[in-house]
Amino acid sequence: MDSLNFNFNKKNVLISSIFAIFIIFFLILNFSNIAGFFNIIENKTFDLRQNIIAPYKKVSNDIVIITIDDKSYEGLTQKFGEWPVPRGVYAKLVDDLQKQHPKVITFDLMFVNPMRYMKENDNALIRVFEKYQNLYTAINFDNQDRRSRKPIELPEKLMTSVISSSKTINFQNEKISFSNCRFILPGIINATSNIGHVNMTRSDDGIVRTLPVFVKYRDDFYPHLGLKTVNEYLNQKYDIYNIDKNNNLLLNNIKIPLNNEGFAILNWYESQNGKVGGYTTYSLFDVIEAMEQNTLNEFDFKDKIILIGTSASSLYDIKSAPTDKFLPGVGLIATFINNVLDNNFIYKLNIQVNLIISLLLSGVTILILLLINSTFISVALTLSLAIIYIIFSTFIMHYFNIWAGITLPLIMMTVTFILMYIYKYLIKAKDLEYTYKLATTDAMTGLYNHRYFQEQMFLSVETAKRYEGVTSLILIDIDFFKKFNDTYGHQAGDAVLKQVAQVIRQNIRTTDIPCRYGGEEMSVILSNTNYEKALLTAQKICDAVASKQFKLNSVVTVNVTISLGVASFPKDAKSVEDMIEFADKNLYLAKENGRNQVGNFVKQNNENENIDNN
Ligand code: GH3
Ligand code: MG
Ligand code: MG
Repeated sequence: MDSLNFNFNKKNVLISSIFAIFIIFFLILNFSNIAGFFNIIENKTFDLRQNIIAPYKKVSNDIVIITIDDKSYEGLTQKFGEWPVPRGVYAKLVDDLQKQHPKVITFDLMFVNPMRYMKENDNALIRVFEKYQNLYTAINFDNQDRRSRKPIELPEKLMTSVISSSKTINFQNEKISFSNCRFILPGIINATSNIGHVNMTRSDDGIVRTLPVFVKYRDDFYPHLGLKTVNEYLNQKYDIYNIDKNNNLLLNNIKIPLNNEGFAILNWYESQNGKVGGYTTYSLFDVIEAMEQNTLNEFDFKDKIILIGTSASSLYDIKSAPTDKFLPGVGLIATFINNVLDNNFIYKLNIQVNLIISLLLSGVTILILLLINSTFISVALTLSLAIIYIIFSTFIMHYFNIWAGITLPLIMMTVTFILMYIYKYLIKAKDLEYTYKLATTDAMTGLYNHRYFQEQMFLSVETAKRYEGVTSLILIDIDFFKKFNDTYGHQAGDAVLKQVAQVIRQNIRTTDIPCRYGGEEMSVILSNTNYEKALLTAQKICDAVASKQFKLNSVVTVNVTISLGVASFPKDAKSVEDMIEFADKNLYLAKENGRNQVGNFVKQNNENENIDNN
């Protein structure tokens, strides 16, 4: 009975773990894009690490943002009676800012379409673009229908050459390859080549983590406004950009690692209230007020990178970034520039390296499970290993800007742990089964041992009592076995004992329990069997032994007989002890009556009585 329960538990564990694995697979398959699903999780672990390390990174003081915030939008609309601000105001602002000698002024604004009745304002703006070599502005590419908006021809001076030795970057991907472009003031395009694109890319979850350093428009490359701005600041000009075979975009002494889509993965800074992305931030409204009151030198713009862009929620240029839920587009440019200045772009380890890390961690997990027996301790150690790895990966992101995968290693560790655990459980189950067998069986005959016999007798009698059933016991003793031993030797005796056990097993049902009672005495417990049926079984065994040729070796065979005694509950006895005693009495009778038979004490008494009565 115990043995049955035990097997059932083992099967349970196996079946439920296979089931669990199936459910997990089903869930994974349900997300049509498995890689995308894991990517989203991996990106979240990137955000987590970025948020942990962001407070230790300082933004550059050389970047100043003049922002069109809600206050500016409302205040300036009121002041000028319209939106957008007349372009002449921007022109005057540029003129006044230049007096403080900033390194570069960049508008993260697109001066689209000539404004009606405002030709003078447009011309004023065009003039400042002609006048200042350190003034930059934005252009934006898209894939709008060519019929609704005819794509414009852009001059060669806005394009750049990119020589890529990379085998994996595909610049043809749809995220950065465009077929259309918004108009911007032709006068500005004529006046300057300081125009960079401000296209951006979001991950699948809508969060901006990367920046497309170049985009393609009708097969030509255009650099990002942030790249142009920072090159101006660093006094470097590139007609040709080189990308090495390790996907690094090479600037003078800075390497910008690009991912396979050609994006730079940004390292993010801590956001701060009231400041765009933590950078020194002034409201355009305050700056224009100061300009009109000639107090602009209260702001410090000397040698700065001035970025002018919108942050007003009503102007729809708000992105979500890993460390900042509400980051204006101008903050994205600032972050790119800051990454160049700090030379701390994120380098993402490729899948092969992540796989090696995963295999190493899985290996350690296997070792833990092999070496440690306690489930609690092995779970604790494996969890600790995972936590240590997460801390380690955060550490190397902080100090080496390396993005080591967390999702793949943790998934592989978990799967390894589960499989190893199942494996260990199966081995343990086998061990237990073996131990159990050792504890319940007799090694020589393979029959159940005396202790098991007592247990099962008790169970059988108690069950019969409880359910008003029957149960029977057969006791078996080999005839003249002492003499047999004396004649043929103990070895031969043992061989016969084994073969008698074999005959017993062959002549009973699977539900009957054959035991070695002790010495050369054996027994069979027959649950749910009444006296008559037990008697038949006993007789069958007796005949089978008597008719069998017992082999002592390859030449000698002998005949052996046995004597048997049967007892039944509740007919003959009400307890285990009484049953054994009654069966023993019958066995003794069989011996008395000449052996090689089943003793039947009751029948003999009845016959005797009948004889007496007659
Ligand atoms: P009977 O039962 O017919 O009255 O005569 P017997 O000679 O068989 O008497 P008894 O049952 O008292 O004998 C027990 C003998 O069985 C003693 C011992 O020599 C032998 N015996 C008991 N256990 C073993 C065993 O494991 N191996 C061998 N070879 N002999 C055993
Ligand atoms: Mg005996
Ligand atoms: Mg005997």
